[in-house]
Amino acid sequence: MPKRPSKHTQPPRPLHSGSFATLVEKADGEWLVQSMPAGNATKPYTCPGCGLTVPVGQAHLVSWPRQASIGSPSAVEERRHWHTSCWNRRH
Ligand SMILES: [Zn+2]
Repeated sequence: MPKRPSKHTQPPRPLHSGSFATLVEKADGEWLVQSMPAGNATKPYTCPGCGLTVPVGQAHLVSWPRQASIGSPSAVEERRHWHTSCWNRRH
């Protein structure tokens, strides 16, 4: 069994300095959510809620699991970009 780094629980780290991620509880676990201002939305993303594109220049939300999945190098690497309304529809 490989040892897991459980000794130190790292606090949530923001993706960008100056803004902070918020911990949100959903039916499938705890997520960190950070708002992405329109000025930072410089690439199109596919929203996992509706499967449509989050266009460049649209303010949206980024979320990632509080705990990284097994085998994942980092929870932040699992982040997804959501339409704000799609994220708010999640439970
Ligand atoms: Zn969507």
